[in-house]
Amino acid sequence: MRRILALCAVVVLLAGGCGKRAAAGPVAAAPSQRSAIRLDLAVAADLSAVEGSMDLQLVNQEREPVDRVRFLLFPGLVGGRMDITGCTVDGAAATLGGGKRDAVRAVVLQRALAPGASVEIALSWRAAVPAIEGGGPLARTDGFASLAWCFPVALSPLTVAGQPAPYADFLCTDAASWRVRVSLPAGLVLVTGGREISRTGEDGRTVVNLELDPARDFYLAIGTGLSVRAARPSVGGGPAIRCFAPPGREAAAAFAMDVAGRAIAAFARRFGPYPYDTFTVLAGPLASLGIEFPGLTVIGARIFSLEGSMDGTPTQAVLESTIAHEVAHQWFYNLVGNDQAIEPWLDESVAQYATRLYYLDRYGEDAADSCVDSWWARWNRVDRTLTPIGLPVSAYTAKEYGAIVYGRGPLFLETLASSMGGSVFDRFLRDYVERFTWRIARGADFRITAKEQCGCDLDALFAAWVDAR
Ligand SMILES: [Zn+2]
Repeated sequence: MRRILALCAVVVLLAGGCGKRAAAGPVAAAPSQRSAIRLDLAVAADLSAVEGSMDLQLVNQEREPVDRVRFLLFPGLVGGRMDITGCTVDGAAATLGGGKRDAVRAVVLQRALAPGASVEIALSWRAAVPAIEGGGPLARTDGFASLAWCFPVALSPLTVAGQPAPYADFLCTDAASWRVRVSLPAGLVLVTGGREISRTGEDGRTVVNLELDPARDFYLAIGTGLSVRAARPSVGGGPAIRCFAPPGREAAAAFAMDVAGRAIAAFARRFGPYPYDTFTVLAGPLASLGIEFPGLTVIGARIFSLEGSMDGTPTQAVLESTIAHEVAHQWFYNLVGNDQAIEPWLDESVAQYATRLYYLDRYGEDAADSCVDSWWARWNRVDRTLTPIGLPVSAYTAKEYGAIVYGRGPLFLETLASSMGGSVFDRFLRDYVERFTWRIARGADFRITAKEQCGCDLDALFAAWVDAR
């Protein structure tokens, strides 16, 4: 098994992750007092632009009043652009502050929003989708458009992150109830992580209504010539698995769906239930190996094969470890949120560690050991420097980020598990997920939950591996 997967950790996961029309009225508050987002998106026939409107009913889930709501306007960061064409707050005209081309712009509220109170913000915009050879989370290539963040992304009041680094994820968003209407050219295939509610055709266009509830984000892609496969996982029940891939990739699609189903079953058993009835794998053009979104992962088409090799490692092994890693993010990123820019180890290092658990459960100790070997190999790239794993993305170079967060980070978790005892650590991870489901966890929450579970002093361990010095 060790030979088969020499490469649990070639998994470099770079960051990686829409028409003006009235977005259909006020959004009803979710029973749980969760924020609600209603998106109305119209995609141009040539996939070069998305017009959209959004109603955001924001519920302040913090303990402090909130006086502004910040939005990330992503397209401008990757060679596209986003022009805001309208903004209201509780029905009154308002302004999105900052310069037209600023990546982060804020709506300043007239009155601070008390904890538990809500405000309704409506935005409309037009987004230009950049043509990027090789693809990307927001990019169009021949006959395909990946449309991540083609809408203003409401940032959690908790985050202080500024400009995203190109080699890392960068979001911190609250879980919300999503209702999304997409109008796309008829005959094209729509891929989303959401559940389809209805589909109609009119005037050469297809209109699809979807929901995803709750979720921290909503991904969509549109393409020609994508073949769709669907299956129930072969083990453990769980969600239906769908795969969208270019023609000719049927064997890889079957393999990918099997791996995704097994990974979901393994993680559900260990961490708690997967929250949706479907999981979608999309093989698309992408510079990185994979990107996670709620209910969906995009896997780079160049590794979506059972043949060939990458840097001496069989492509099939790269595909398997990438899918396991991305599936782990359904728990550590979506279910348990964190600030990806400020404490990236909470999702990336933990997803790396979880990938080892997938191999352990499926193939046994040797395979799991090969994951650990790959983490050492990563850390070796920076000569095992004792750089803390708990720093913000901006504190690392791209090389350090891969070596420390994806290499030293899971080695810390392995060390922590040894120190706490395997079964105690397993209980701790499950407890951590349960406690912070649909919330945003910080490093301190992770540490306190671990200490409570083991009843031991872990401060020296965290000081040696995690904390800034
Ligand atoms: Zn990742």
